[in-house]
Formats: sequence, structure tokens, C-alpha cells
Amino acid sequence: MNAAFSTFIALFAISGVLSILLAVYVSSRKTRFSGMHVFIWMSIATAIYTFGSSMELASSSLDKIKFWISFEYLGLPFISPLNLLVVLHYVGRERLTTKRATIGILAIPAVTSLLMLTNDLHGLVYQSMELRADAPWPLVDFVMGFWYVVNGSYTLGCGVVGMWLLARHMRQTLNVYRKQTITMFLGLFIPIGTSLIYMMNLTPYHIDPVPATMSMTNLLYCWAILSAGMLTSTPVVRENILESMRDGVLVLDAAGRIADYNKAASQMFPFLTSDLIGKTAVDAFPRQMFRSQDADMAFLDSEDRQVECLADNEIRYYRFRSSPVYNKRGGAPAGRTVVVLDVTENVLLHRKLERMATHDGMTQIFNRTHFVECSEKRLIEAWRIDEPLTVALFDIDKFKSINDTHGHDVGDQVICHVVHSCKIYLGDRDIFGRYGGEEFALCLPGRTLEDAYALLENVRRELASGPVTTSAGPVGVTASFGLVEARPGRPLNRLTKLADEALYRAKQHGRNNVQLAAGELLSETETSAAAAPLDAAGTAGA
Ligand code: GH3
Ligand code: MG
Ligand code: MG
Repeated sequence: MNAAFSTFIALFAISGVLSILLAVYVSSRKTRFSGMHVFIWMSIATAIYTFGSSMELASSSLDKIKFWISFEYLGLPFISPLNLLVVLHYVGRERLTTKRATIGILAIPAVTSLLMLTNDLHGLVYQSMELRADAPWPLVDFVMGFWYVVNGSYTLGCGVVGMWLLARHMRQTLNVYRKQTITMFLGLFIPIGTSLIYMMNLTPYHIDPVPATMSMTNLLYCWAILSAGMLTSTPVVRENILESMRDGVLVLDAAGRIADYNKAASQMFPFLTSDLIGKTAVDAFPRQMFRSQDADMAFLDSEDRQVECLADNEIRYYRFRSSPVYNKRGGAPAGRTVVVLDVTENVLLHRKLERMATHDGMTQIFNRTHFVECSEKRLIEAWRIDEPLTVALFDIDKFKSINDTHGHDVGDQVICHVVHSCKIYLGDRDIFGRYGGEEFALCLPGRTLEDAYALLENVRRELASGPVTTSAGPVGVTASFGLVEARPGRPLNRLTKLADEALYRAKQHGRNNVQLAAGELLSETETSAAAAPLDAAGTAGA
């Protein structure tokens, strides 16, 4: 027997054995791949076909050859449609693999098998078959029947659709799963490619090489199953979860290189493209995006960190949650998955609520509660480091008449003007709050009684210096002030009470003046001014 001929027989037989082994192996694995049972049937169909083919080649008479060809047709027509079903499972189109759809897809192959078994009666598959005279071993020459073309086209169609689905899937798939997608693609392409060669009559003695290439396909599947974990995982399910997640996911390898990312991550960081895969995250992310303390991206290693990012002249806040990934054998982490949440809205809302809780809505200075909280802390600090601190209260004079004469809106405008005028004289450390309707409080750390007195005088003069321009025209405004200095052991509520008493006295002294709390005295330089009687215009102390 010719050596090439024996090789073909051997190859066909190996393909058959491999297919059986594959079916047994896959069925023995507790795999979660939903297309597993279809894959087993595909392997069985392949085994029938390749085994039949080797028997066909080894047959010496036309009758035996015909018998084995009929046998082959119990598997052959099913291979390509079953492969399409495997692909449909693999790319997550399970909806197209229902019982009805499966029966529909396998109807034509079933008809083909039946027609082949009864071919002698109608010749629909093979019109005629006879032994070739020119071949060095028994080979048949045949004339195609109508159904041969139908089956061939259907086989080819299933293969092309399968390849198209895989190609589409490859573009959307995560990098780690590309290897197995490519394997599946080749598994489909090799038999189709070789059938084309066969149809173009390019094989010696017109031997059908497809059964031989089936061994290649089977070897590819074996390799993919054993090495790449194909069919043992559920990449589609995993990927669907990953891709449908609203949170970004980055997969980093042990060296901090980007191994993968999902769609949400690329939407958050549009510069994240597939050519950055393999680069370290520190190289991939623009450095200027982060504040200097985060430029080393150490937050990718910490469990949970909120990071401020600048993108398109807009500040956004991201929460990075990183967790190590271990492989089954344990040991050092094989990499990290980093889940990225865009928390900008939350952060901004939180800040807004925080501001609303601590600030006065109209004047945007501290509200009373926050003023007290901050001042108490400052007071304790002042006692501790023996620093001077003064507290003042002031109240707009005859404000009711402003409201009554010009209306509440104008009253509001006057309040805002008073706040603005006061702020001009305040420093970073001074605490300014709205204490009541048109009453304000100041906590002045580091300012002695003299400094604070001078400051309040400046504010008083500023207000008294000219009318406020309001929507109702110019409105004159003055205010009265009460001032007290902190002493160790005097709590804030005592200080504000003393300041309030001083303010009351300022009102009694004709308004538009600054009064010290009882028992407080200014040092030499300010004494004469402070002690001088105040006139109604409040010019004393100036
Ligand atoms: P005095 O010189 O003795 O302080 O006289 P006054 O008229 O200012 O008296 P008082 O301080 O008791 O007046 C407070 C008034 O301030 C009563 C209230 O109607 C008004 N008021 C309180 N809060 C607001 C506000 O947010 N807007 C306006 N327009 N008026 C306010
Ligand atoms: Mg008032
Ligand atoms: Mg008042």
C-alpha cells in the first residue's frame, strides 16, 4: 500500500480516536460551560465521520466503500451545525440554542443522513459512484446529487456564521479570553478552508482531506481545553457581568501592568485603549491627572481610597477599591483587580449638604451652631498655647425700621452688605457667624482686646461711612458692638453672654459704638478713646 495512503488512513483514525477522547474528557469534567453537551455531541459526530473515512480508505470494494460513506454521513452533516451551536453558547447567544432552535438547526443534517442511508433508491446525495481506474488504490468517483449541494452549502453557511460570530465576539471580548476565541475560530476555519481546497480539486486523486484536518481541529480544542481552560470557565457570563457593570474594572498583573479593563473603565478614562495593555498603570495614566501626592498611583495597592482627578478641566472624584488576585496554588498575588467608582456626584452632594448644615444660606458665613463649634475648639487651643482670643457680638441698629420702611428684601440686602463690610477686615483665622436674625458673632484668635477693638471700630466706621446702595435706593446703616476677651476657664457661652451685655450697653449708649464687657480695660493707648463718652453719632473711639 502506498505510504501517503497509509498516512491518510492513520491521520483519519487518529482524528477519530482524539474526538472520542475529547468527548470522554469533556464529559468527565465538572465544567460550567453551558455548551458542553453540544460540544460532546460534536466530538461524537466528528469521531463517526473520521472513523468512517479511515474505514472507507481502507476498503477494497465499491460496496464496502459505499457502506462506510453512509456510515460517515451519520456524523458528517452534524459537525458544522453542532459547531455553530457551540459557538452560539460560547458567545452568549443562549437564546438561539433553545430546544426548538436546536431541532431547526439540526433538521437538514438529519435529512441528509436519512437520504444517504437510502441513496440507492433516489440518488439525491450521490447520483452515481464508481471506482476510479487511475488511482493506485480503490477510490470512488462520484456525480453530485441535488442534496449533496444542499448539504455542502448548509455546512459552509454554518461555518461562516460561526466564524462571523466569533470575529464579532473577539472585538468585544476581554484580552484574557482572546486566545480561546481564536482557537475556536481556527477550529471552524481549518475544515472549511480544506473543504474549499477539496472542492477546487487541488488534492491528489481528489482525496477528501477534511477528515485529516479534523485531527488538527481536535488537537487545537484539546490544547485549548487543557492549557487555556477553554470550556472550563464561563467567560461569556463573567464578561457580561464585567461589561454590564457601571463601575470601572482594571485588571493588573503582578508587576502592575494593565492586563485588562472593562467598558466602564474606558468610559471613565477615555485614554484607556487596548494598546495600553501591557503598560504599567503609572505609565498609562497621565500624571497631571492626579494631585502630586497621588502621582505615584500608590492608591492602586491600597484597599480603598478616594482620589481627586482632573480631566477636561473638570475635577472628578473616584473611589479605587483594590484587591489582590491569587491563583489556585496560592502564594504571592498574581495581580490585582481594581474597581473604580465615580463618586463625584456623591462627593459634591455631601459637600453641599455639609455646607448647608454649617453655613447660613443668605450670607454664606457660618451659622450659629457651626460658629459655636469652631469657636469652642479655638478657645481651648488658645488656653493651651496661651494665646489671646477675643469674642464680639454686633447687631444692626434700628433694623426693624429698615424692614418696615423699605421691605424685607431691602433688609436682606442690608444684612448682606453688613457681612461684606465686616469680612473686609477679617483674617483667615477669624471666625465669623450669623448669630441671629441681624445679629453677628466674631471669634478672633490671636487678637488682643486692643487689636479686636481696633478691628470693630474699623467695621463700625466702614458701615457708618455711607449709605448702602439697595434696590430701594441708598439706605443708611450702623451697628452696635460688644467685645470681651477670653480668660482661662471662661467658657464660650460665658464670653458670648458678656459680649451680649456689652452690646446691650452699646445700644443704650446711643448705638453705633463699641463697648467692652464689664471689667475689661484697654491698655494705655486705647484707654482714653474707649473710656470717652460716646455721642449719638458714635464717633467716640475714632
Ligand atoms: P435695635 O437697634 O435695638 O437692634 O433695633 P432693631 O429694630 O434692629 O431691633 P431688633 O434687633 O430686635 O430687630 C430684629 C429684626 O430683624 C426683627 C426681624 O423682623 C428682622 N429680621 C430678622 N432676620 C431677618 C432677615 O433675615 N431678613 C430681614 N429682612 N429681616 C430680619
Ligand atoms: Mg437690631
Ligand atoms: Mg437684633
